[in-house]
Amino acid sequence: MANVVVVGAQWGDEGKGKIVDWLSERADIIARFQGGHNAGHTLVVDGKVYKLHALPSGVVRGGKLSVIGNGVVLDPWHLMKEIATVRAQGVEISPETLMIAENTPLILPIHGELDRAREDAASKGTKIGTTGRGIGPCYEDKVGRRAIRVADLADDATLEARVDRALQHHDPLRKGLGIEPVDRDALVAQLKEIAVQILPFAAPVWKVLNENRKSGKRILFEGAQGALLDIDFGTYPFVTSSNVIAGQAATGVGIGPNSIDFVLGIVKAYTTRVGEGPFPTELDDADGQRLGERGHEFGTTTGRKRRCGWFDAALLRQTCATSGVSGIALTKLDVLDGFDRLKICVGYDLDGKRLDYLPTAADQQARCTPIYEEIDGWSESTEGARSWADLPANAIKYVRRVEELIDCPVALVSTSPEREDTILVTDPFAD
Ligand code: IMP
Repeated sequence: MANVVVVGAQWGDEGKGKIVDWLSERADIIARFQGGHNAGHTLVVDGKVYKLHALPSGVVRGGKLSVIGNGVVLDPWHLMKEIATVRAQGVEISPETLMIAENTPLILPIHGELDRAREDAASKGTKIGTTGRGIGPCYEDKVGRRAIRVADLADDATLEARVDRALQHHDPLRKGLGIEPVDRDALVAQLKEIAVQILPFAAPVWKVLNENRKSGKRILFEGAQGALLDIDFGTYPFVTSSNVIAGQAATGVGIGPNSIDFVLGIVKAYTTRVGEGPFPTELDDADGQRLGERGHEFGTTTGRKRRCGWFDAALLRQTCATSGVSGIALTKLDVLDGFDRLKICVGYDLDGKRLDYLPTAADQQARCTPIYEEIDGWSESTEGARSWADLPANAIKYVRRVEELIDCPVALVSTSPEREDTILVTDPFAD
């Protein structure tokens, strides 16, 4: 297989970092195709811990090309800080190892301010619980055709005209929220200053990737967030503002969908969510508490406590379908060690009617109650298991039942944050 897409198949935080790192060793190019620095990927390589938000995970490995695609929204000030941090950890980053698509929209300070002001002003029930990083407002400007893109940084007159266009929209909005108008000249000056640092990395990414694809290079598309936060197929409006599902890998860098050979869905053995929004299998009891504590469920980007609940096979079946998942990586199986009984959601009850998928309307989602199947747990530790023989029989039964219910095979199982603690069934890059 030449090109592999990795997507989170739940609400994010499925443990993509370890899997992406493991796969990036086998890839030549690692490309981000959506989201921004709302993501948080923790990598442990040779004992060193790297916390990445905007940079593709490939940067920490030598000899790879890392790409930020046009589907991403990029905060250039954040990026330069992140580059400085990883450089201080000994990582080399140059225009030969990192490319940013020229058509990538820029997150400006006004986007973060708007994001946070709206969240502060929102009443209960309308708050999204965003990361406050300006992701949504920047995507709004992109589709509103008033974003400032990387290429605009190269010419002062164009840049100033683009700033003026953006402010025609933003100043009235800010006034409505009680925020001062933007200091236009200060913003232009800030952008000119950062332009010098960003432009050396700017490239026609679509062209570079297509040429590399033709010459047989292996591309790993690194998704952020999770399919249930997708702007179209997620639990709208409690979602992020980008398409997260695998099809976005093509649009978000400029390659054809026929260039994608394998879609790996990352799936946690239970469910978590940060931020507001429906979560049918959420547990507000000792079991939920236990999942959170054993799984260290705190957000990498915001430090917020994650909500925890049972595995939702009905939702997974949905996300495997919308992303065309070829195989899943099941992570954090060890967090389930020691539960007497485990529950798996197989469908929902909506006003007395059984559904095998989560309906689209928010009011119906809120009224859905999970229908559970119960399965025996296991008392033995699965932490660090590297083969099926290392797993207790009931853990294998759990994995097999998950495969059946979501109608998708397991490609690998991860049993600890250590990269070697993995049971490999199918190598996504294997021919
Ligand atoms: P935004 O992406 O900052 O606009 O936030 C929208 C929703 O997506 C909120 O519920 C966030 O908590 C959630 N979210 C955004 N990025 C991530 C992520 O990387 N992991 C998990 N949840 C995320």
